[in-house]
Amino acid sequence: LEAQLRQSQKMEAIGQLAGGVAHDFNNLLTVIEGYIDLLKNKLDENASINSYINQMKKATERAVSLTRQLLTFSRRQVVQPKILDINKTIQELSKMLNRLIGEHIELITNLDPKIWRIKIDPSQIEQVILNLVVNARDAMPEGGELIIETEQIKLDRSYNRFHPDVRPGDYVVINVSDTGMGMSEEVQQRIFEPFFTTKEKGKGTGLGLATVYGIVKQHNGHISVYSEIGKGTTFKIYFPAIKARTSSEVEESERKHLKGR
Ligand code: ADP
Repeated sequence: LEAQLRQSQKMEAIGQLAGGVAHDFNNLLTVIEGYIDLLKNKLDENASINSYINQMKKATERAVSLTRQLLTFSRRQVVQPKILDINKTIQELSKMLNRLIGEHIELITNLDPKIWRIKIDPSQIEQVILNLVVNARDAMPEGGELIIETEQIKLDRSYNRFHPDVRPGDYVVINVSDTGMGMSEEVQQRIFEPFFTTKEKGKGTGLGLATVYGIVKQHNGHISVYSEIGKGTTFKIYFPAIKARTSSEVEESERKHLKGR
């Protein structure tokens, strides 16, 4: 429990810090980039110093792209939660996901039509799914199966005993499984840490799962991970269920909500 607390404090602190630092850094980098361009213009084409300047320019560009990523990660965007049918969200995304994973990976969806809705900003749920899918793809360079499932689960007090941060109740669950390389225990312990990555330089930021974690916690949700080296990985993402089954029930509750504003 203490470790969990430390984890969420770390996230919060880093989020705040990163936002501020990234913003200032971005401004400074713009200044540096500007002077590099000026300097380049002053030099004649074949000056040997040119290659040093090109290196500086490249490094600055990489720094700019890193700070941009930091900014998107930490920016507290205006969220507009809606009552969503995530089966629909997944179906709508599937064309893009298929393109993202490539031909060597097969996307299999198994969506339970009886699940309830969840309340979340559509772009946030898309981000959660996308980050998990990108990781699944990267874990299967030789190809394999990516399985996205939805199900409805009731978590009772016995679950709560082992996961004291999880409230008992009805949850809508998204399972994202791959048949990829899997993770060691040591890696599993650290995957939600901001900036933790095992991917080669320039490929991973280590912010994907930290972002997923942040979004899920914001919605009183829960994540569990099952992974075996050489076999694959399953992420289970739990969101509290909104008990509106039909679209008219959803519209009704949204209309009430709008009137109340
Ligand atoms: P990034 O993808 O930029 O490395 P993430 O926070 O998304 O950052 O992931 C952190 C690390 O967790 C990855 O570098 C990888 O080691 C591990 N990981 C995440 N998902 C999977 C997966 N499906 N299979 C194997 N390893 C994974």
